Amino acid sequence: MTALVYLEQTDGAVDEPSLQAATMASSLGGGAEVHAVVAADTAALAPAGQLPVDAVQVAVHEAFGSYAPLAVAEAVVELAGRLGATCVVGPGTERGNEVLAHVAALLDLPLAANCVAVADADADADAGVTRVRWGGSLLEEARVDAPTLLLTVQPHAVAAEPGAGDPPSVETFTPTLSEAALALRVVERVGAATGGVSLADARVVVSGGRGAGSEEGFAPIEELAELLEAAVGCSRAVTMAGWRPHTDQVGQTGTKIAPEIYIACGISGATQHMAGCKGAKRILAINADREAPILQSADYAVIGDLHEVVPAISAAIRAARSG
Ligand SMILES: Cc1cc2nc3c(=O)[nH]c(=O)nc-3n(C[C@H](O)[C@H](O)[C@H](O)COP(=O)(O)OP(=O)(O)OC[C@H]3O[C@@H](n4cnc5c(N)ncnc54)[C@H](O)[C@@H]3O)c2cc1C
Repeated sequence: MTALVYLEQTDGAVDEPSLQAATMASSLGGGAEVHAVVAADTAALAPAGQLPVDAVQVAVHEAFGSYAPLAVAEAVVELAGRLGATCVVGPGTERGNEVLAHVAALLDLPLAANCVAVADADADADAGVTRVRWGGSLLEEARVDAPTLLLTVQPHAVAAEPGAGDPPSVETFTPTLSEAALALRVVERVGAATGGVSLADARVVVSGGRGAGSEEGFAPIEELAELLEAAVGCSRAVTMAGWRPHTDQVGQTGTKIAPEIYIACGISGATQHMAGCKGAKRILAINADREAPILQSADYAVIGDLHEVVPAISAAIRAARSG
């Protein structure tokens, strides 16, 4: 079988969820030939180094200077057809899912999004997929009846592995893109109002919930975040109250995070919130209620008023650093 994996990259470096998708693609069926496709506005942005694929194709077009999901999908479909790919894989990021959804629409095929495991991808029988549904609260097992298996890989479901042996060959091609596809692209970027460390990539996240009490109640949370070089997050109760922007929201309908430690202050731990932070390696819950559901997921907890506990932690950090 031949698999094609769509890779997202930033300045020539392949993003971690795409490396994970490539690793999953390389494990599908014994001896699968795996090709990768990246979209760039210059051939100079071909990904360098080891990748778990046999060959890389760089789709070069000026439209790819910014995010153009339908145009990328057309390039993926063109290449998949030329390679005779029986499986097309992408990262289960917002953009990866969007591009693969366009691929599915163009090919009139089903898409299995956010997969954590795939079986029988190379067999004559329908492929079996296990995928994350309902914001991570359940795993669905399904069989996909399609001539070409389209799937995205749930971020952090598999560990990214570098390729063994020689680096893949790299070729470029110029895709044929429709006028309609070129009309859909990002024309302007506006930085997040809060700036600082990106929530999705932060190694430490300090988050506040309704327990913060008000917009001003986030001052000690921001102070601790600054001391720890952390990103500030929040629950949906907070964004609904207008205390923080939606870009700060962690959860099913917010950002999915995977920091080394997640410090959740005044957050009850609703399923929809935990769907966004269950990738955290450690959780420290600061909560006034010792029965709060988040304590079932927390590795550490401080029971108390966050308006006393959080400033005390900041003061202790400052004292330790100055001593
Ligand atoms: C379709 C859907 C999607 C959703 N998506 C998301 C999502 O992406 N993200 C998300 O967060 N939610 C989401 N929600 C909402 C979710 O169900 C909860 O309502 C929300 O997470 C609750 O926020 P909270 O924990 O801040 O508030 P609460 O549940 O009200 O909890 C507040 C907590 O603060 C504690 N507390 C109060 N005062 C203090 C104090 N002074 N010091 C310390 N602790 C204190 C309380 O003991 C309590 O545990 C979604 C809901 C739906 C239906």
